[in-house]
Amino acid sequence: MSDRDTDGAVDPEGAVPAPVPFLDLHGVHAALRDPLNQAWSAVLGHGRFINGPEVAAFEGAFAEYCEAEHCVGVANGTDALELILAGLGIGPGDEVLVPTNTFVATAEAVVTVGATPRFVDVLPDTLLIDPDAAAAAIGPRTAAIMAVHLFGQMTDMPALSALASKHGLALIEDAAQAHGARFAGRRAGGGGVAAGFSFYPGKNLGALGDGGAVVSNDAALVGRIRQLADHGRSQTDRYGHEVVGRNSRLDTLQAAALHVKLPVLDEANRARAAAVAQYRKSLPAWCVPVGVHPHAEPVYHLAVVQVPDRAATARALDAAGIGWGIHYPVPCHLQPAFARYAVEPLPVAEAAAEHILSLPLSPTLTNEQVERVSRVLDSAGP
Ligand SMILES: *Cc1c(COP(=O)(O)O)cnc(C)c1O
Repeated sequence: MSDRDTDGAVDPEGAVPAPVPFLDLHGVHAALRDPLNQAWSAVLGHGRFINGPEVAAFEGAFAEYCEAEHCVGVANGTDALELILAGLGIGPGDEVLVPTNTFVATAEAVVTVGATPRFVDVLPDTLLIDPDAAAAAIGPRTAAIMAVHLFGQMTDMPALSALASKHGLALIEDAAQAHGARFAGRRAGGGGVAAGFSFYPGKNLGALGDGGAVVSNDAALVGRIRQLADHGRSQTDRYGHEVVGRNSRLDTLQAAALHVKLPVLDEANRARAAAVAQYRKSLPAWCVPVGVHPHAEPVYHLAVVQVPDRAATARALDAAGIGWGIHYPVPCHLQPAFARYAVEPLPVAEAAAEHILSLPLSPTLTNEQVERVSRVLDSAGP
């Protein structure tokens, strides 16, 4: 798999078309080098590498961006999810509904707090959690639903909210792939009890290393999470530890970089959407992009298509120097680490896992590159 490729080398002879990287992080940062250098240099100057002023400044700006009240920076997106669960008191004896088509981190967070993931199938067009399947999986021990906004598209939050309130469950958003996405006009981060974001470098808003955040409108929950993430430290006595916490903080250097990148996030998301619109026009008919719910406004973290013969398609892309990925080749309930939690086959996700393929997508992707990918696919067609 080539989904860690970040660099698009140019052929020196100009004879062979240049490779198309799966993700062009180099291009994304090229225009931001000066402001990023200045921001990091300021942190080097004041030396407050932990809890420096850039952390609170970014937290405020990101909460506002998400149209929510509070944000706590944490070390990564997985910790964000785990801290939300811990802050809600979810643990041993509790079950949490998790769509099986997600990055394993969603399920990991559930297991880390001692709760049990209950895997749920997805819808065949969007590959997001199926609200009816979620309803059918609710039992006496169900405590929460993980609403995973995969590939940049939000799940149907009104449907899941109705389910959560009917059964008294916490609705938690995994927004690691959905910075800025909307559903029915509402942004990711403000529609559930809390949302976990990742700033892994390849995400729509990426740090220059690991980072994450919890966004929420619940001040009491946010206070508990802030405390848990800082060794359970008392808010009023720095040497008083009231609960057993841990260490999960957003570094000042990463907060400074994220604050430089946040103002251009919407523009980058629009560029991703334009590239996906271009793919939709130029891809051969057998390359079927994942569907978009009529109320969703995705931010296109990934350009996922379903193809009949993935191995052949991937070979053609490799031969042409075009990056690709699979998100995800093995649904969580079939991963060895999580198989013990599988209670039933999840046929939609299992079938889709054989056919999904993620095409190159970056805010810098040009129409020419999209056309070239489409031509290569066309010539590899069935
Ligand atoms: C990236 C990701 C995470 C985990 O984020 P990290 O910052 O890598 O820990 C969780 N859920 C989903 C859906 C992700 O894509």
